[in-house]
Amino acid sequence: MNTVLTARAIRQSFIEFFLGKGHTFVPSSPIVPHGDDTLLFANAGMNQFKDIFLGLRAPDCPRAVNSQKCLRVSGKHNDLEEVGKDTYHHTFFEMLGNWSFNDYFKAESIAWAWELLTKVWGINPDQLYATVFAGDDKDGLPRDDEAAGLWTKLTPIPVERVMAFGRKENFWEMGETGPCGPCSEIHIDLGPDRCDMKGVPGHQCRVNGECARFIELWNLVFIQYNRQPSGNLVPLSAKYIDTGAGLERVVRVLQSKESNYDTDLFMPIIEATARMSGHRYTSQLGNKTDNAFRVIADHGRTLVFAITDGATPSNEGRGYVIRRILRRAARFGRELDLHEPFLYKLVPVVVECLGDAFPEIRERADYVATVIQSEEAGFGRTLDRGLEIFNTAAARAADTKTKTISGDDAFQLYDTFGFPPDLTQLMAREKGLTVDIERFDELMKEQRERARAAQKTDALLAGLADSDLPATEDLHKYRTDRCDATILGWIDADGFKKQGAVPAGTELGLVLDKTCFYAEAGGQVGDTGVISADGGRFVVEETMKVGNTVIHRGKLADGSLKVGQPVAAVVSPDRNATRKNHTATHLLQWALQEVLGKSVAQQGSYVGPDYLRFDFTYPKAPTPEELAKIEQLVREKIAADLPVAWTVLPREEAEKLDAMALFGEKYGSEVRVVCVGAPDESHIDEAFSREFCGGTHVDRLGVIGGFKVLREESVSAGVRRITALTGQALTAHLEQAGSIVEQLTALLQIPAGKLPERIAQLLEDNKKLAKQLKTAAKTGGPDTMAEARSLLDAGERIGDSAVVVGRLSTTSVDRAREAIDMLKKKAKSAAVVLAYEEDGKVMLLAGVTDDLIKKIKAGDIVKQIAPIVDGGGGGKPQMAQAGGKNPAKIDEALGKASELIKTALAK
Ligand code: ATP
Ligand code: MG
Repeated sequence: MNTVLTARAIRQSFIEFFLGKGHTFVPSSPIVPHGDDTLLFANAGMNQFKDIFLGLRAPDCPRAVNSQKCLRVSGKHNDLEEVGKDTYHHTFFEMLGNWSFNDYFKAESIAWAWELLTKVWGINPDQLYATVFAGDDKDGLPRDDEAAGLWTKLTPIPVERVMAFGRKENFWEMGETGPCGPCSEIHIDLGPDRCDMKGVPGHQCRVNGECARFIELWNLVFIQYNRQPSGNLVPLSAKYIDTGAGLERVVRVLQSKESNYDTDLFMPIIEATARMSGHRYTSQLGNKTDNAFRVIADHGRTLVFAITDGATPSNEGRGYVIRRILRRAARFGRELDLHEPFLYKLVPVVVECLGDAFPEIRERADYVATVIQSEEAGFGRTLDRGLEIFNTAAARAADTKTKTISGDDAFQLYDTFGFPPDLTQLMAREKGLTVDIERFDELMKEQRERARAAQKTDALLAGLADSDLPATEDLHKYRTDRCDATILGWIDADGFKKQGAVPAGTELGLVLDKTCFYAEAGGQVGDTGVISADGGRFVVEETMKVGNTVIHRGKLADGSLKVGQPVAAVVSPDRNATRKNHTATHLLQWALQEVLGKSVAQQGSYVGPDYLRFDFTYPKAPTPEELAKIEQLVREKIAADLPVAWTVLPREEAEKLDAMALFGEKYGSEVRVVCVGAPDESHIDEAFSREFCGGTHVDRLGVIGGFKVLREESVSAGVRRITALTGQALTAHLEQAGSIVEQLTALLQIPAGKLPERIAQLLEDNKKLAKQLKTAAKTGGPDTMAEARSLLDAGERIGDSAVVVGRLSTTSVDRAREAIDMLKKKAKSAAVVLAYEEDGKVMLLAGVTDDLIKKIKAGDIVKQIAPIVDGGGGGKPQMAQAGGKNPAKIDEALGKASELIKTALAK
């Protein structure tokens, strides 16, 4: 090759090569998988085709090609710890892939991979090695002789460079469960200079060895099995090809660089960081500064892609992974003396590098930068202080035998300074220390349990994808709220049952041949209602969909029902309220864009019978005027009673209409478009709002009946939330508010219009009175100090010491104590006993100055006199108190006190 290809050209040449082999380009799915709870982030190109492999969905084309956005930071595939330390593992990377859905198989995938690598890209064939699966006894799988044979038959690769490896290397799985199969990998020998383990005793460079001389370029997976939650492998009904080649690694080879970071995919980011920090990047492994450059470049890309696709930093699940990555990057920034937020400034650089291939990052760049900046600013405030605490903890740990930072320190760093535990561990490792993670985990247990509860998986649905569920015809949901159907079976914790009587009383999922129930999707809650026949009534509490099957979750409440029985499915009238809220949500999104501009994009929603909630991107709180305008626009449309229509269109056509799609959502080749303002489906161009939507809607806006924003608030940086009411819920809300006003007007005897003013006045008055009361309490009441002073004046003296015994008319312990303090100070040497009466009870207090406590102690005096008033108590030598129940004997007690003191002092 004479000219050096850009990363962009290399990505393109991969795609074009496979287009030329009859493949269809399928865009990368979002990095945040929608609708797959088994996965936090896309970790391979095959994720979006999982349902096809499992037979739950038919492929749109027999062969596909793309470059998939992948993140390997959690679960089975986690490369976070390698980032920066080596030159070829990233958290975010692009996986080039080609797929066959029961079309071609091993031979073609091997031959084409070889052709592209050696003929099109011109990689020296002598550098390439192939691996195949050696079989596995535990899973009962044979050695893949077929693949080994194909390599030597179809390519000139010598037989000794085709090597067999076991399950760890050559059996590919996306996660704990799901499609999987044996694989065949292509590795490249980058030459002895790239070995990073030279001199390590016993080290030998080899494929799948320890060092960086051999790296894996491309993995060809022969998907043939589904790994079930039990660990068993079940053969799939068809065979699939799923391949993945890391773009960054290919680019590095084709650009003849020694590191992925030296390519045009990373250098612009590294250079921008160098400009900001004033440090220089020298591309050395094991160098602290260079390592920081690499980590920042890697994490910067990850943040841009993950936040673009809908993850936002938070304390749970995906959001927490993103927060950890951001905090790690911010901390590495300190290595380059970057103390102010800086990551957000890399957003435009990442966009410059990758925005052509992934236009979504360009579209959302401002939003992403806002989110990163505010998160950086938040962490930056505690980071420097946290680093100090860490250094102290580390110094302490260095002095111990175990060289371990305590779990308590790690927890404090986490809890108070926001240091994720893996960040603390990483920093500890850099100092040759470890962290007592067990203790940390113990301390975290409570928090973790909360998070786990939130992720609670649905027991009913566990393992369902494996069973053969019949599809449900559910288009009726758009037309009616009652339909006739037949029971096909039910699902309980053991799986799908196709015959027999539906068990009574236990929670299960009923499956019908058809239904008018709406299954939860797109923010709209699943319907509730009743499925019944003569002699049986099943109450539906929730409706959901798995693949193409609608599951009515609930209980058989009365009588009996059995498989094959005809039933009537009747949706609860709640659905009408839900429909109003759903259409109102479309109106709201339209109005938001009218008033706040096109940068408003939906981030999520809840549409139920009770209220609607809409989350959207917007950098600041809308003003009250803007909110009023938004409400007014929605209300005008409702008042105009415009019609609502929907139609199903090929996706490209719908996109041309500029219909609003949920950002990052995966849509099929046909989409339903809901059009507000169009009289029927042939006039959708008349609509003012067009949205991709599978929800149920009203036919005319008038029935929505009204619209009111209840709350506007911030959800996270750059994301706002509006909660609003329509229809009956709005009426109920207004009624309640009205009744409160009525009660208030009755109470205050003024017209409703004057309420705010009067209540403000009352509050003001109240404040004034409270203030007056406080000063009165301070100055008013008996003058305790004066009383105490006269007791001192009247009291006896023994030598230089005063004996002060008497009653006070106060009823406050604090006052009485203050009086004793004052007397001790004034007399310099004194023994004091004071008493007062309150609500039929007695309080005795004694105080003795330090010079006298050898002779008499306040505690002893109180102990001896308290029984006289039927009480008890005690205290210190200097000050003591006691309560009693017999005020009639106060004088007797005081008399005794005076006697005690005098005797003691006379000694
Ligand atoms: P490795 O053993 O190098 O970690 P892998 O076996 O985990 O690779 P696969 O799951 O087979 O990789 O992924 C397919 C391809 O994606 C690999 O051949 C490689 O080119 C690329 N790849 C995998 N992980 C990363 C990563 N963390 N960063 C960059 N590229 C990667
Ligand atoms: Mg790996």
